Amino acid sequence: MNKINQIISLLKKEFPGPDPQPSRSDPLDVLIATMLSQNTTDKTSYRAFENLKKDFKDWNDVMNSAPAKIKRAIRVCGLTNQKSGSIQSMLKKLKKTRGELSLNYIKKMTSDDIYDDLLQYGGVGVKTISCVLAFGLGRDVFPVDTHVHRLANRLGIACTKTPDKTFAALKDKIPEGKRFLLHTLLIRFGRKVCRSASPICGECRLYDICEFKDKELYAMKNESVPRENNFIILEHV
Ligand code: SF4
Repeated sequence: MNKINQIISLLKKEFPGPDPQPSRSDPLDVLIATMLSQNTTDKTSYRAFENLKKDFKDWNDVMNSAPAKIKRAIRVCGLTNQKSGSIQSMLKKLKKTRGELSLNYIKKMTSDDIYDDLLQYGGVGVKTISCVLAFGLGRDVFPVDTHVHRLANRLGIACTKTPDKTFAALKDKIPEGKRFLLHTLLIRFGRKVCRSASPICGECRLYDICEFKDKELYAMKNESVPRENNFIILEHV
């Protein structure tokens, strides 16, 4: 069994039950929710997303609003200048190029074409587009955020410096039909066991195949730190 399949199989033992599935929410909603999620937790970004939905009539209203009103609505998730500016300029560009505020036109495109197309909108990166594909179009893709990037490098299935490079290195190596599954398993595992600052290597079922150079050190600490929940907010958009 190759290493990626081995990791999936071990993580399935950690998180038994039905495989998580990509979902099909409105792609523009997912795009904006993901733009809000940068550098914050899923809980706060979802609250910001809900505030936008509550305080504005529609995305057209957001596009034409005074920036201060958008910043007020999303202040819970931080980086309000950057996020409000990116969202408004993305909406304006979408309106200008497509004539309407909808991403329904991407539904018939290939995933590769969608990456090329959406990268033209300012503030929209590869991870954001992967989330649109997974949570808006139900496609089997492998979104790579900082957490997935960390785990892939610790485990030794990537040797890269940035999430986008990890995505490029792995996207064709993960078996078809398993990409979204591996993404979700790694996110859950990163919250529960392989945490950024305090991985619980001593209790890790991937210990033997992990290539993290400090794993013995962390295992010796034999930590007993409370575990976090597995809430993934984008599933609820
Ligand atoms: S051994 Fe430690 S670093 Fe490696 S996957 Fe497990 S928790 Fe993460």
